[in-house]
Amino acid sequence: MSRRKGSCLCGALTYEVDGEFDGVWLCHCSNCRKTSGGTGNSILIVKRERFRWLTGQNHRVTYTLRPTYSITRCKTCGTPLPAEEDETNIYLTAGTLDDPIGVGIRTHIFHGSRPDWDHDMEGVRYLNERS
Ligand SMILES: [Zn+2]
Ligand SMILES: [Zn+2]
Repeated sequence: MSRRKGSCLCGALTYEVDGEFDGVWLCHCSNCRKTSGGTGNSILIVKRERFRWLTGQNHRVTYTLRPTYSITRCKTCGTPLPAEEDETNIYLTAGTLDDPIGVGIRTHIFHGSRPDWDHDMEGVRYLNERS
Protein backbone atom coordinates (compact mmCIF):
# COMPACT_ATOMS: atom_id res chain seq x y z
CA MET A 1 0.00 0.00 0.00
CA SER A 2 1.27 3.45 -0.82
CA ARG A 3 2.16 5.82 2.00
CA ARG A 4 2.66 9.58 1.71
CA LYS A 5 3.98 12.20 4.07
CA GLY A 6 2.95 15.75 4.79
CA SER A 7 4.06 18.63 7.01
CA CYS A 8 3.42 22.23 7.97
CA LEU A 9 5.63 25.06 6.76
CA CYS A 10 7.87 25.20 9.85
CA GLY A 11 8.15 21.41 10.04
CA ALA A 12 6.87 21.04 13.62
CA LEU A 13 3.93 18.93 12.46
CA THR A 14 4.39 15.88 10.28
CA TYR A 15 1.98 13.12 9.34
CA GLU A 16 1.57 10.15 7.06
CA VAL A 17 -1.41 8.85 5.17
CA ASP A 18 -1.98 5.43 3.60
CA GLY A 19 -3.65 4.49 0.34
CA GLU A 20 -4.78 6.21 -2.81
CA PHE A 21 -6.96 9.29 -3.25
CA ASP A 22 -9.91 9.72 -5.59
CA GLY A 23 -9.41 13.45 -6.08
CA VAL A 24 -9.18 16.84 -4.44
CA TRP A 25 -12.25 18.74 -3.24
CA LEU A 26 -11.86 22.49 -3.69
CA CYS A 27 -14.36 24.47 -1.61
CA HIS A 28 -14.93 28.10 -2.56
CA CYS A 29 -17.50 28.93 0.13
CA SER A 30 -17.02 32.26 1.90
CA ASN A 31 -15.65 30.52 5.03
CA CYS A 32 -13.03 28.65 3.01
CA ARG A 33 -12.09 31.71 0.97
CA LYS A 34 -11.47 33.74 4.11
CA THR A 35 -9.59 31.08 6.06
CA SER A 36 -7.40 30.19 3.07
CA GLY A 37 -6.89 33.79 2.02
CA GLY A 38 -7.33 32.57 -1.55
CA THR A 39 -9.90 30.96 -3.81
CA GLY A 40 -10.76 28.29 -1.23
CA ASN A 41 -9.58 25.23 0.68
CA SER A 42 -8.19 22.19 -1.15
CA ILE A 43 -9.18 19.06 0.75
CA LEU A 44 -8.67 15.32 0.51
CA ILE A 45 -11.21 13.31 2.49
CA VAL A 46 -9.66 10.21 4.06
CA LYS A 47 -10.80 7.63 6.62
CA ARG A 48 -9.32 8.21 10.08
CA GLU A 49 -7.59 4.83 10.15
CA ARG A 50 -5.53 5.80 7.08
CA PHE A 51 -4.08 8.88 8.80
CA ARG A 52 -1.60 9.34 11.66
CA TRP A 53 0.40 12.19 13.12
CA LEU A 54 4.15 11.58 13.31
CA THR A 55 5.25 14.69 15.20
CA GLY A 56 3.87 17.87 16.71
CA GLN A 57 0.29 16.89 17.51
CA ASN A 58 0.27 19.19 20.55
CA HIS A 59 1.40 22.03 18.32
CA ARG A 60 -2.10 22.43 16.81
CA VAL A 61 -4.61 25.15 17.57
CA THR A 62 -8.25 24.89 16.48
CA TYR A 63 -10.40 27.95 15.79
CA THR A 64 -14.10 27.22 16.01
CA LEU A 65 -15.66 29.93 13.90
CA ARG A 66 -19.21 28.57 13.87
CA PRO A 67 -20.77 25.43 15.36
CA THR A 68 -20.33 23.78 11.97
CA TYR A 69 -17.06 25.34 10.88
CA SER A 70 -13.60 25.22 12.41
CA ILE A 71 -10.04 25.31 11.15
CA THR A 72 -6.91 23.84 12.70
CA ARG A 73 -3.52 25.48 12.24
CA CYS A 74 0.05 25.09 13.36
CA LYS A 75 0.74 27.27 16.43
CA THR A 76 4.06 28.48 15.04
CA CYS A 77 3.62 28.93 11.28
CA GLY A 78 -0.17 29.09 10.84
CA THR A 79 -0.37 26.40 8.19
CA PRO A 80 -3.93 25.02 7.83
CA LEU A 81 -3.69 21.38 8.95
CA PRO A 82 -5.56 18.13 8.45
CA ALA A 83 -8.47 18.03 10.90
CA GLU A 84 -10.79 15.42 12.38
CA GLU A 85 -13.95 16.65 10.74
CA ASP A 86 -16.35 13.96 11.95
CA GLU A 87 -16.38 10.47 13.49
CA THR A 88 -14.98 8.74 10.43
CA ASN A 89 -13.12 11.25 8.29
CA ILE A 90 -10.06 13.46 8.24
CA TYR A 91 -10.20 16.52 6.01
CA LEU A 92 -6.63 16.67 4.85
CA THR A 93 -5.39 20.01 3.53
CA ALA A 94 -3.97 18.93 0.17
CA GLY A 95 -1.25 21.58 0.01
CA THR A 96 0.45 20.18 3.11
CA LEU A 97 1.37 16.90 1.37
CA ASP A 98 5.05 16.58 0.51
CA ASP A 99 4.52 13.76 -2.01
CA PRO A 100 2.62 13.73 -5.32
CA ILE A 101 -0.82 12.05 -5.24
CA GLY A 102 -1.36 11.23 -8.92
CA VAL A 103 -4.85 12.74 -9.17
CA GLY A 104 -6.19 16.25 -9.64
CA ILE A 105 -9.19 18.27 -8.54
CA ARG A 106 -12.33 16.17 -8.65
CA THR A 107 -14.98 18.48 -7.29
CA HIS A 108 -15.48 22.22 -6.91
CA ILE A 109 -17.86 23.02 -4.04
CA PHE A 110 -19.73 26.34 -3.96
CA HIS A 111 -18.28 27.04 -7.40
CA GLY A 112 -20.45 30.14 -7.75
CA SER A 113 -18.78 31.69 -4.70
CA ARG A 114 -15.38 31.92 -6.35
CA PRO A 115 -13.90 35.42 -6.28
CA ASP A 116 -14.23 37.20 -9.62
CA TRP A 117 -10.48 37.01 -10.18
CA ASP A 118 -10.61 33.20 -10.19
CA HIS A 119 -11.24 32.46 -13.85
CA ASP A 120 -9.19 31.49 -16.89
CA MET A 121 -7.75 34.50 -18.64
CA GLU A 122 -6.07 34.78 -21.95
CA GLY A 123 -2.49 35.84 -21.52
CA VAL A 124 -2.16 34.39 -18.04
CA ARG A 125 1.50 33.72 -17.21
CA TYR A 126 2.81 30.51 -15.69
CA LEU A 127 6.00 31.11 -13.72
CA ASN A 128 8.06 28.69 -11.71
CA GLU A 129 9.54 31.40 -9.54
CA ARG A 130 8.59 34.79 -8.20
CA SER A 131 9.28 37.51 -10.77
ZN1 LIG B 1 4.31 24.80 11.58
ZN1 LIG C 1 -15.97 25.71 2.31
